[in-house]
Amino acid sequence: MATLEIKDLCASVETKEGKKQILKGVNLTVHSGETHAIMGPNGSGKSTLAYTLAGHPKYEVDSGEALLDGQNILKMTPDERAKAGLFLAMQYPVEVPGVSMTNFLRTAKTEIDGKAPAIRQWTKDLSSSMKRLRMDAKFAQRSVNEGFSGGEKKRAEVLQLELLKPKFAIMDETDSGLDVDALRIVSEGVNRAKENTNLGILMVTHYTRILRYIKPDIVHVFSDGHFVKTGGPELADELEETGYDRYLPQGADSE
Ligand code: ADP
Ligand code: MG
Ligand code: MG
Repeated sequence: MATLEIKDLCASVETKEGKKQILKGVNLTVHSGETHAIMGPNGSGKSTLAYTLAGHPKYEVDSGEALLDGQNILKMTPDERAKAGLFLAMQYPVEVPGVSMTNFLRTAKTEIDGKAPAIRQWTKDLSSSMKRLRMDAKFAQRSVNEGFSGGEKKRAEVLQLELLKPKFAIMDETDSGLDVDALRIVSEGVNRAKENTNLGILMVTHYTRILRYIKPDIVHVFSDGHFVKTGGPELADELEETGYDRYLPQGADSE
C-alpha cells in the first residue's frame, strides 16, 4: 500500500508578464486503491497541479512538498517521478513524431522497471491490452499521438497505464472529447487498472459525466489554487446541479 501526500504546495507558472502564483496551499492525501475526483471551475489551477506533480519545467514550486511513500517527488526529475510510480495523463497529450507507440512503451517500461521486459510476455501483454481497449494492432506502429483523434489519445494513455503499472495516476480531463462509447472503453481500462494493481487515482474533471463510469471515493472542490471543500460522491451530484458559482472567489465569473 502506497501513499501520496501533498503538503501546503504553492507553485507558480512562468507567463509573458512574469511569474504568476497559481497553487496557493494544496493539501491532499491519496492512498493506493482510492479514487479522488478533483473538480473545479476553468482556470482554477487543476492542470497546474497535475503538471507541477509531474515536473513540467514551466511550473515552479515555491513551497511545500509531495511525498510518495515519504519521498519528496518535487525534488525529482520527471523520469525519477515516473520510476517512483507516478503517471500523468495529460489534458493535451504531446505528439512524438518518428517514435512508434510500441518502441515508446517498451522504452518507458524498461526505464521504469530498470530492466527490459521479457519479449514474449511483453508482446502478449501489449496485444491483449490493445484488444481490450478496442485498438487496431496497426496502432502500435504509429508515431506517439501524431494525428491521433481525441479518443485515440485517451486510449493510448490508458494503454500506458495498463502496461506501466504506476502506483498513482493523475488523469487530467480524461473525459474531454470522448463520445459515450470511447468514454466507456477508457473508463473500463482505468477500472481494470484499479482492480489489478490497486492504483490510486487523482481524477481531474470539470464535468461529472466520467464519474458515472469511474466511481470516486472522495470528491474535492478546487477553486483559486486550493481545495475549498471535500466530501463523498454526493458532492459531485450537488456540483452537477448547482455548478461552481458558490465556490468561486468573489467577483469571478464562472465559465
Ligand atoms: P484549469 O486546469 O483548472 O482550467 P489551469 O491550471 O490550466 O486551470 O490554469 C490556471 C491559471 O494559470 C489560469 O489563469 C491560466 O491562464 C494560468 N496558466 C496556466 N498555465 C499557464 C501557462 N503555461 N502560461 C500562462 N498562464 C498559465
Ligand atoms: Mg482549463
Ligand atoms: Mg485544465
